[in-house]
Amino acid sequence: MRNLYEILGVPKDADQAAIRKSFKTLARRYHPDVSKEADAETHFKEINAAYEVLSDEQRRSWYDEFGEEALKVGFDADRARLYRSAARGSGGGAGFGGGGVSLDELFGTMFTGGGPRRRGRSGWGESVTVRRRGPDVEVSVEIELLTAIRGGDTMIQLRRPESCVACGGDGGTGKQACSACRGTGRVTQNRFGMQAVVLCDRCAGSGVTFAQECSTCAGAGRTTAQKRLRVRIPPGVEDGKVLRLKGLGGEGRSGGPPGNLLVTVHLLPHPLLKRRGDDLELEVPVTIGEAMAGAQITVPTPDGELKVRVPAGARNGMELRLQGRGVAKADGTRGHLYLLLRPVLPSTDDPRAVELAQELDGFLEGDVRAGLEL
Ligand SMILES: [Zn+2]
Ligand SMILES: [Zn+2]
Repeated sequence: MRNLYEILGVPKDADQAAIRKSFKTLARRYHPDVSKEADAETHFKEINAAYEVLSDEQRRSWYDEFGEEALKVGFDADRARLYRSAARGSGGGAGFGGGGVSLDELFGTMFTGGGPRRRGRSGWGESVTVRRRGPDVEVSVEIELLTAIRGGDTMIQLRRPESCVACGGDGGTGKQACSACRGTGRVTQNRFGMQAVVLCDRCAGSGVTFAQECSTCAGAGRTTAQKRLRVRIPPGVEDGKVLRLKGLGGEGRSGGPPGNLLVTVHLLPHPLLKRRGDDLELEVPVTIGEAMAGAQITVPTPDGELKVRVPAGARNGMELRLQGRGVAKADGTRGHLYLLLRPVLPSTDDPRAVELAQELDGFLEGDVRAGLEL
């Protein structure tokens, strides 16, 4: 089955106005009663099915996330996410997308006549307004490791559905019941003795038309708005964590509550600081003199510079633990910062330096490569 966006000829990030406009144009072109195009009826069915999904922000976001799987009758997004993470855990990954959905299956509810009426899209004639919760909006954000450790603010860009500002969400002026479908949003067609219920192309299934349709939202009453939001990153956040920001998703309809904003956090690797769970690791170069004689050195930490004592006789790879200077934990305490000491050799061929180094070799006990066996 073709991609629903391709069927409607709109880009994946098209807003509701563009989707609605395209549907109306295509539905008129391929209307089986008037169209002279080949396969008009098949096209018409496809266009209807695609618009059914893409005009519904919740179903559209499921389709974006799960593909055709999301078009099946009785699809449950929460359960699908659960299955998917289980499939990932077992190394499967390909748990989805196997059983494609046929057009007939997708149309099952519409073409049997008495199929379940979709919640929410009450036709004009029913005069019932259904409060609908806005859709959840998902974004991901990349943050610096230091921000993840200390916590802090970050700006995110997102697109979320909102009530159209130009028409106040009405869709236009001079609202009236659509005469083509008598406000039901659906028209019945007799095709080869079969009853087919399809979306009304005059009103795009909404059941209403306008004397003056709003040009911004093409009568949908909704547009997609670009937003910049400041998001608070809690200290100690882990890579892949999803922050759920209540009420910051898409606006609800007819007084329904807004959806949530789900922010997936990705940590950018730090060039020097490594994270090991709640602990941090930092390689610290020291001189041979500092390592042998011991010294007080200054090191950077997530909390600023700290003075640290290098013990006399420190070896390469020795770890100094700075307690409570690591990543914040859920219980309010913090992990540790481990300083990994790395003595640095002078890179010089000055004869005196070489002579001193060779003299230093004389202090090594036994063979340095003793025990080096494979
Ligand atoms: Zn209509
Ligand atoms: Zn508008």
